[in-house]
Amino acid sequence: MTAPIESRGATPRFFCDAMLGGLARWLRASGYEASFEHGIADATLVERSRERGAILLSSDSPLFERRPVRLGEVRALFVPRHAPVLDQTVFVLRTLGLPLRAPRCMRCGGELGEVARELVAAEVPPRSLGAYDLFYRCASCRRVFWHGTHWDRIEATRATIAAQL
Ligand SMILES: [Zn+2]
Repeated sequence: MTAPIESRGATPRFFCDAMLGGLARWLRASGYEASFEHGIADATLVERSRERGAILLSSDSPLFERRPVRLGEVRALFVPRHAPVLDQTVFVLRTLGLPLRAPRCMRCGGELGEVARELVAAEVPPRSLGAYDLFYRCASCRRVFWHGTHWDRIEATRATIAAQL
């Protein structure tokens, strides 16, 4: 489980178990697609991971006894349950030999694309619209982001993650 997997071609994507919502958000901020569903049943979690070719992330030992995981049809990684979410994020990226990538939408994991100020005027508070130059729209949920205080906090956290990889 320690070999880099970038050589497989496509950027890996993840499916987090129902306890790991925070990890899913920070994997997205680290540049990876990470699915997460509240209250998802174990069998569904395994099946969805297989369908999407996603790496299953879980802190739930019995899940690793499930047949598709045992047979290696679903790739899975055990994540320490009580570790702080940033430690979990670093653990996953380090274990799989993955770099920090351009951030994706923390809400849904969609790709963020730069968008002109004029196009987001109706969606951004006037103060922020005047104060910032860079705006991004999520290609999936359509939410707009900009380089404000919140973004700075995310960048600072990303730097903390990167320093540990
Ligand atoms: Zn989104």
